[in-house]
Amino acid sequence: MLLRLQSLASRLLPAIVLLALVQWLAQSNHSLLFRWSAQLSYVPLVAILFAMLVALKFGRSRMVIACILLAYLCVQGLWPALVHTAISSKLTTPGLMALLCVLLWDKDRGFALFNMGLAVVWMLVTLLATYLLYEYFPDEWQHWLVPVHDLLPSPLDGALSPMDWCFYLLVTLLALLKLLLNASHSHCMLFASMLVLPVLDYQNQFVTTQLTVFTLALVFLTAVIIDSHNMAFRDELTGIPSRRALMQYTQTLGSRYVVVMADIDHFKSFNDTYGHDVGDQVLKLVASKLQKVTGGGKAFRYGGEEFTLVFARKSGQQVLPHIESLREQIAGYQMVIRAHDRPVKKTAKKTNPHRRTSTQKQVGVTCSFGVATKSRKHSQFSEVLKQADQALYDAKKAGRNCVKSR
Ligand code: GH3
Ligand code: MG
Ligand code: MG
Repeated sequence: MLLRLQSLASRLLPAIVLLALVQWLAQSNHSLLFRWSAQLSYVPLVAILFAMLVALKFGRSRMVIACILLAYLCVQGLWPALVHTAISSKLTTPGLMALLCVLLWDKDRGFALFNMGLAVVWMLVTLLATYLLYEYFPDEWQHWLVPVHDLLPSPLDGALSPMDWCFYLLVTLLALLKLLLNASHSHCMLFASMLVLPVLDYQNQFVTTQLTVFTLALVFLTAVIIDSHNMAFRDELTGIPSRRALMQYTQTLGSRYVVVMADIDHFKSFNDTYGHDVGDQVLKLVASKLQKVTGGGKAFRYGGEEFTLVFARKSGQQVLPHIESLREQIAGYQMVIRAHDRPVKKTAKKTNPHRRTSTQKQVGVTCSFGVATKSRKHSQFSEVLKQADQALYDAKKAGRNCVKSR
């Protein structure tokens, strides 16, 4: 949980600081800003449409929709008459916030006609629900909102009606809940853009909106690129760098390095006993231990239950104590797993498959390690890797849960 909060903060804070800076800059009323907004007023719209095209290319349908929503803000500023309807101005911010919240909880559905139709239906339902809530919220219920409204500090309580404040708070908390469950860069950027909407509404200035949308276009672009990079170079299950990242990393290695192959012992029987889901939990835990290897090693998931550690600018002698301590740490760690009791095959038909009890169990796993150093004889990375694999085979033959080197 702590790790999740850390990664959430590290992703969210830069965007929020940047957006706060933009608000401050826009408030400075610098003459240059007004000249910029007058002469280059179409730039934010072009930037957000460009971000949309990039998101389209990367198949990120939620980011495409978010860009369209933000483009609406530009269009509203550039051609107010075009989008002015009886409900638009009052409901722009709550509507957009609700839509961004729904997008946060949704997944990237792609661009198949049916899925796009579904997304449009969801959005229309959200807008309609927001409209109905605002228009038909019973007056006698308003007093329920007052205590929540009183929580606002004094300069703000006059700016936001109790209805607005309670709605924004509710939508923000719902979005925050999603972020605690999954905080990819795209999620964090959608959340940051949600937070800035009430500020834009409050300031109600063309320059501020334009500058913010321009910044959000850059922020969205960055999020799409970073998430796509992570998808390509991070292992989905364990979150550590993948085999592709390993192959890229090998290009940067110099003339001295050590390669270690690590393999979980008897993992197949582990899967057979506790099930594939528990096997996945163990893989994640082992990966997190390997990632914390000391001595300057970098961990990658090679595939299945095999991992590779690379120590740049190190000799075998320097690396061995770190691997030995890693082996001990893994072997001595009792992992708490959520295990579903598996029905025994013969009685499986009699038992209700939905009535699986979930219990916590403590299990231990061990790993075997094979260490190989780059040498004149084995100068290519693929050869060193092969040697490490041979050493791993030696470790398995020697009874497992040990380190062997070649
Ligand atoms: P050894 O000690 O000789 O390494 O035995 P082992 O059982 O670990 O090795 P083996 O190669 O026979 O089995 C590897 C197993 O790893 C088979 C497969 O079911 C499991 N496995 C591979 N990838 C995954 C995965 O992503 N998740 C889970 N749960 N299991 C996986
Ligand atoms: Mg194994
Ligand atoms: Mg294996």
